[in-house]
Amino acid sequence: RGSRLPRTALVTGASRGIGRAIARRLARDGMVVAVHYGADAAAAQETVELIAAEGGRAFAVGADLASHEGVLALVEGVRAGLAAHAGDGGLDVLVNNAAVTTSGGHLQEETVEAFDRLFAVNVRAPFFLVQQLLPVLRDGGAIVNIGSAVTRISLADELAYAMTKGAMETFTRTLANVVGTRRITVNTVAPGPTQTASLTAAMAAVPQLEELLIAGQALPWVGQPEDIADPVAFLASPAGRWITGTVVDASGGTYLG
Ligand code: NDP
Repeated sequence: RGSRLPRTALVTGASRGIGRAIARRLARDGMVVAVHYGADAAAAQETVELIAAEGGRAFAVGADLASHEGVLALVEGVRAGLAAHAGDGGLDVLVNNAAVTTSGGHLQEETVEAFDRLFAVNVRAPFFLVQQLLPVLRDGGAIVNIGSAVTRISLADELAYAMTKGAMETFTRTLANVVGTRRITVNTVAPGPTQTASLTAAMAAVPQLEELLIAGQALPWVGQPEDIADPVAFLASPAGRWITGTVVDASGGTYLG
């Protein structure tokens, strides 16, 4: 790539939570960031403004990843946005973060509709996003998938959700072998409980929750979105160039035993 072009990133689901923290972190590393959102355009714009306030560059792109048309619209929006904001349509880093994070529940409670939606957003969308973006992903780039510690820890009420994250770990390993010749790395970062808005609300409703969470971890604080963004930024940086096909547990040592 031209040496004067800035590095670029797409972070899906960057309107809030962990995705927003990742977008801000990558922008701090000098990348022009495509801030993707599903429905909440105002929240995505807030992410863009937070990045601008820190001297970074970003733009928002909306697309519903439950449909394949949404995936294709995101690809078009990112290519056009990068061409307008970063000189050409080239992409260095893809972070597949957007996900339906609420599972239907236990085996007997899951519905076909909820199951299909989980797999559409959490598995099908990142798969076809990679398929469609590979032509513009620059050699030496990085793909980081946001997984979950629930592939390691059995939570009965998150069964179908956990299965989507397991599928993404398989995607990570095999895709790493497929794109490695182009020096593109593929890894999963697997958070444990992380304090986004929903966990903040749960902690306010249940005062003992913070203590309970910490009791199940090696490290003594509740995971913050920034605790996830830092390892993502490392894997996306030149320092992570020799790491591929792996799952990085970023859970503060949740349920180590
Ligand atoms: P949030 O629920 O806070 O945010 C989800 C993001 O994904 C939002 O930006 C949302 O967009 C987007 N999104 C959701 N559904 C769709 C859709 N159909 N189409 C397009 N975009 C969509 O997520 P978290 O920050 O909590 O989680 C981020 C990642 O981390 C996820 O992959 C999650 O599975 C994983 N994770 C989170 C943990 C946690 O404790 N928070 C623990 C382990 C893993 P919009 O705002 O427009 O709705």
